[in-house]
Order: sequence, then structure tokens, then C-alpha cells
Amino acid sequence: MTLVLTGASVIDCARPGVRAGARVSIERGRIAEVSDGNGPIAPDAHVIDLGGAYLLPGLWDVHVHLEWPRLPAATVAELTVQYATNAAEGLTESGVTAIRTAGVPHFIDVALKRAVASGRLVGPRIFAGGWFLTTTAGHALGTGFARACDGPMGFVRAIREQMENGVDHVKLNLSGGIFGPAWDRHWHSFLLAEELEAAFTICRQRGYQVMAHATNPEAVKAALRLGAHTVEHGYILDDECLALFRERQAWYVPTLGITHLTPAQAATPWERRWVEQRGLTPEIIKRAEDAVPEHRAAFQRALRSGVKMALGSDLRPLRDSALLEMGLWVRDGATPWETLVAATRHAADLCGALDDVGTVEVGKLADLIVVRDDPLENIDNLRTLQLVLKEGRVVADHRPERP
Ligand SMILES: [Zn+2]
Repeated sequence: MTLVLTGASVIDCARPGVRAGARVSIERGRIAEVSDGNGPIAPDAHVIDLGGAYLLPGLWDVHVHLEWPRLPAATVAELTVQYATNAAEGLTESGVTAIRTAGVPHFIDVALKRAVASGRLVGPRIFAGGWFLTTTAGHALGTGFARACDGPMGFVRAIREQMENGVDHVKLNLSGGIFGPAWDRHWHSFLLAEELEAAFTICRQRGYQVMAHATNPEAVKAALRLGAHTVEHGYILDDECLALFRERQAWYVPTLGITHLTPAQAATPWERRWVEQRGLTPEIIKRAEDAVPEHRAAFQRALRSGVKMALGSDLRPLRDSALLEMGLWVRDGATPWETLVAATRHAADLCGALDDVGTVEVGKLADLIVVRDDPLENIDNLRTLQLVLKEGRVVADHRPERP
């Protein structure tokens, strides 16, 4: 059956601006027509009048762990249920129609991806990375999603196991972070040259892209020179890093929320509520706040120097993550348009899915959201969510009941 959305203010995320009074027809899950809304509608079509509300591509978050609530002692079965619920709520409550995972234990993300793709589970489209691969004394070891590898063959074996278990990309940890014990700091690089060489070589040989956690210039440059597809965090970037990003056409995923969301920095009701619930320790708050000036500068310089960037939060749960991160992009100087594109078209491009999703254009799968107020005027208007469509099917309807 054809679904026709009338009275749409379309923000297609392909060309800047709003196309008002538009009509979008969806057939067999794909966008069949975007028009100015004249001409007859097939009598058997299902019509939804959006009344001027804003129609956009579904949102993406390309740095997700799905752990929520964080219960490291949970069984694999309990984790699976939690992660599925977290993913489904991100889709239906916030319009996150696709995610890329950055470290998930037991290949739960691969299982969820398959369940969603087959239609058995309602959830976002998933690009799965499996385990977060680090070293002994590495990063994120306390989370339950990290796997410690040591030596070139330790990495090669772990990466081959990831492949066998169906991942789409390989998450490789090159350096420390903000969250962690005293010996895990973001200016420390963790891998030996031989380990890096082996890990990147096996990925390249088998055609898997590397999602590199790299937080200081040394680690970022190593990742880029060895062919990383994306660099996550990049808390400190120098000029050489920015030049290498452009030269290699690699993506930067800045995860601003990791350093920007502390009690003293939270500036909106959503940020304050999130920070309260997160319960950060004084030590982590200090680490985050100490890292903020360089992180903000890295983000702003990358944004203004033409580095390819996409939106990934590293926050949880999914119903909060992308929206919080988008607010921070705008606060740090991105326009709402740049931010929307980073969370739609660029994210889809990063995941190699731009032919099918990421914009509102004829031929694409209808992963779409409708929001009441204009997000180009205020990015927080994405919180006026009315409808979420996944492949042309309405999976959430938050419109108030009409008489
Ligand atoms: Zn992460």
C-alpha cells in the first residue's frame, strides 16, 4: 500500500533549507515521490497530513555501546534484553533509526542487527563492531565490553574471531580515555608499533574498516597513517592530524558529550537531568573538565578546516544520546544544519549506506522522522518528535489525539 505524507516541511539533508507544503509518497518501504503537493492521490493510499510539521531523515548515532543500565554482573541473557530495549527506545522515543556500535560484548549487537534486519525486532538499523579490542592495562576494561589482546598475534586472532562472528567493522583501541583508572589517560598510547601494524594489516587484507579510538595526536596520526576509516574522540588534534584527516579522507567522530557533560557545564534541563542520573565521580568530572578546552578546540578546528565529521555520542541510553550530542555540537559552534547533516547524511555515508538511507530523496528507504517545530531554528526542536518511520512503516506516533 502507498503511504502519502502531505503538508510536510521537508528538510531532506541533501540540500540546505526547508521545502514547505511538500508531499512525500512511500511505496514498498521506499520514497517514491517528493513533490509540491498538487495532483491526485491514489484512492487506496493511506494519507497522513503532517500539518506543516518537519519531515527529516531518521537520526543516527555512530558511536554507541548499548549498555544501559550498566550492570557488569548481568548474564548474557539479561544484557541482550537490556540492549534490545535500549535500542528500541532510541528508535521510538527519539527517532534514532540507525546506529554504529563501538564495543558490545558477546556479539549481542550482531544478533540484534540480524533480528532487526529480518523484521523480528523493532529497532534501529545496526552496523555492528562486536568487542572493543584493547590491551592488558588498556582502556574500558571495567565495562564488560572490552577484550584485552597482547602481541601482534593476540590482535590478529581476536580480529579474526570478530570476523567469524559477523561484525561489520573492527573497533580498535589505540590510547587511553577520560573514564578509567589512574593508569588509563587519554594522552597515553597503548599499542606497540608491531601490534598496530598487525591489527591494521589483517583488517586491510580482509576488507574490514577500522573504527579507531584515538585520543592524542600520536595515536590519531598512527591510526590515520595505517588506514583507519574513522577516528573516535580525538580529544587533542594538532595541525598534522587535521591535514592527515583530509589527505586520507578519514572521518572524525568527536563524542563531545564525554568531556562536556559535567554538573558545572550542563546548561539545559536535559543535560542537567542526564548528569544527575549519571552520577559521575569527582575524579572523572575533573578529568573531563581538564580535557574540555583542547577537545572543544579540536572540534572547532576540524569543523572549519573541512574534515569529514559525523555525529556519534558515546553516551547512554540511546533515547538521550544523539539529542544531547547534537545540542553540544551547536553549543560549540556548528550550525543546526551542519549538525543535522552530521547526524543523517554524513553518518550514513560513514557507514557506507548512503545509497539507501541518510536523506529524504526518491529511491531511498523511508527511515524518517517528523518533528513539530523547526530544528534549523533550534536544534532542541528535534525533541518535539511526532512520528518515526522505519522503511515506510510508522513505528512510533507521538501526536496528540485529535478530536
Ligand atoms: Zn565509546
